[in-house]
Amino acid sequence: MRQVQLYRYRLPIQTGVVLRKQTLTEREGLIVKLQQNEQIGWGEIAPLPTFSEESLEQAEHQAKAWLKAWQIGQETELGSLFPSVAFGLSCALAELNGELGEQGNYQSAVLCYGDFAKFQPTVRLGKLKIGVNPESEGEQADLLLSTFPNLQLRLDANRLWSLEQAVKFAEKIANAKKPRIQFIEEPCQTPELSRQFAKQTHIAIAWDETVREPNFLVKKEQNLTAIVLKPTLIGSIEKCKSLIEQAHNLGITVVISSSLESSLGLTQLARVAFQYTPNSTPGLDTLNLMQHQLLREWQGSALPLVDEQSQFVWEVVL
Ligand SMILES: [Mg+2]
Repeated sequence: MRQVQLYRYRLPIQTGVVLRKQTLTEREGLIVKLQQNEQIGWGEIAPLPTFSEESLEQAEHQAKAWLKAWQIGQETELGSLFPSVAFGLSCALAELNGELGEQGNYQSAVLCYGDFAKFQPTVRLGKLKIGVNPESEGEQADLLLSTFPNLQLRLDANRLWSLEQAVKFAEKIANAKKPRIQFIEEPCQTPELSRQFAKQTHIAIAWDETVREPNFLVKKEQNLTAIVLKPTLIGSIEKCKSLIEQAHNLGITVVISSSLESSLGLTQLARVAFQYTPNSTPGLDTLNLMQHQLLREWQGSALPLVDEQSQFVWEVVL
């Protein structure tokens, strides 16, 4: 006997500089619940505006069709679905089938959005958004590395810079400190310029946007240390697993990263990270952009938890 439920949630969010093209004040998504006999599986389907190609309405339409088919015993492939739908359904199926371990990796790179007070001597790994003012951001990064000798940084420029601007940034970082920059995600407007940047400055790079381009293949490249996977934008756990295996075979680190999911999706990402990328710190420090947690608690978070009973955030859609 199979049962399905689909909910729509809305939660206030302050995205600030984390999203650059469009500030969000409300995060909307779908929560799916699969039930088979005594087993239950939950998943979150939350296309991210301006990043996902599918809208929430399209995702909802597709999810409903899949759920109706699943309920009557028709198993359909997730591969042809929108990435957010495939990811959310694959999480629900993995929970239902006991394929996703309980343990998660709740350590995260500490995401800094302009508030440097977040950096304490105990912080070992920080993430900074850069890409606006190369010189002052370079000075800031250099100062942070000087102030906290045990700190490592991940930087993310989201393809905003020309090669010249990115090099100006790098010139502000003392050579001895460059190895403590684990990588800069997509410093330049194109992958080719980013490769030139890395060659010229000896700062390692990582692919994020590039991973989501059509026909992307994981390749070993000089100065490329990591790829960033945002499963909501990539697809099912299976698809992520395949990319992870390819990367690991080539000695490339994989960083599982958030697309501003609620605490339900984030805790599942922490579990995916623990299971499939055990040696890599994920990039999941986005819960505090919200004021609530949804269904599941993020380890150590004091934010209030809302559940199925809370009509203020929930709407039943199937
Ligand atoms: Mg990025």
